[in-house]
Amino acid sequence: MSLKVVVGIKWVPNTQAVRFDPKTGTLIREGVPSIVNPHDLDAVELALQLKERYGAKVTAISMAPPSAIKGLEHVIGMGIDDAILVSDRVFAGSDTLATSYVIAQTLKRIGDFDLALFGQETIDSSTAHIPAQVAGWLELPYMYYVDRVEEVDEKQRTVTVRRMLEDRLEWYQLKMPAILGVAMKSQKPRPVSIYNKLRVRMENPIQVWSNKELGLDPRCLGLKGSPTLVSKVTWTPEVPRKKQVIEGPPSEAVKKLVEKLCEEGVLPFEC
Ligand SMILES: Cc1cc2nc3c(=O)[nH]c(=O)nc-3n(C[C@H](O)[C@H](O)[C@H](O)COP(=O)(O)OP(=O)(O)OC[C@H]3O[C@@H](n4cnc5c(N)ncnc54)[C@H](O)[C@@H]3O)c2cc1C
Repeated sequence: MSLKVVVGIKWVPNTQAVRFDPKTGTLIREGVPSIVNPHDLDAVELALQLKERYGAKVTAISMAPPSAIKGLEHVIGMGIDDAILVSDRVFAGSDTLATSYVIAQTLKRIGDFDLALFGQETIDSSTAHIPAQVAGWLELPYMYYVDRVEEVDEKQRTVTVRRMLEDRLEWYQLKMPAILGVAMKSQKPRPVSIYNKLRVRMENPIQVWSNKELGLDPRCLGLKGSPTLVSKVTWTPEVPRKKQVIEGPPSEAVKKLVEKLCEEGVLPFEC
């Protein structure tokens, strides 16, 4: 029996294109293109490596509005086998608790998965709550900042992973099924291939599940099921820049730069 891997991806507004309305204190999302959360591509890449090493079947899931089909097509283009879009108006306004509940119930309905991989965090909300909460709902082992899967022992039903911290590496063995949060920028996500993109058109590998399929209590979903409310957001004030250019050969320019930084008192040591 081959390994079954699920990858969670979020369809996010491209935050580099989002502007902030200082009057209303909200983000201006109109006309902003959405993309697959870039850190989720690390999880996709790690899942595809498991496909190559162990013949794993990889399914992507996303809880999102219908436009996220494009994001799922993108990861299928990278080599993911199939995808499930979990989409229903009743999910709108969900906080991380309600979101992770829906994702956990989706995994439960998928049923026989061995590993569920998630990105470290998103670029639009960045709570990093989802994988930990999914593991909590399903009472499964969880490890985060994973940068490598060392070994999957399908007989013993264990996975050994490497965890990358700022100052050290750690190795953990987890019982499967397990939830993994993949360290951001730990992989080099592969490009989309035309062959895989064609599969989207030929094989129709994306299913859409609404709450009809999941059958969840609406009191646990959307705003009703969300105990956290974003009460206020402020934006970091813009720092005026001096825009000075230091000319000359690099060694001299660096010297001048250090002198200037010393004059400004911004270096953490005596000059
Ligand atoms: C209309 C709207 C209203 C909202 N209202 C609230 C609110 O009232 N209170 C509040 O706290 N938050 C609110 N949110 C934010 C929402 O809770 C988060 O966007 C969501 O829970 C995911 O959290 P995150 O982005 O911090 O994910 P993280 O925890 O940072 O994500 C970690 C990883 O989990 C996976 N993941 C995350 N989201 C998904 C997904 N949807 N599908 C599949 N995988 C996923 C990805 O792999 C990701 O890299 C609202 C969002 C929307 C769109």
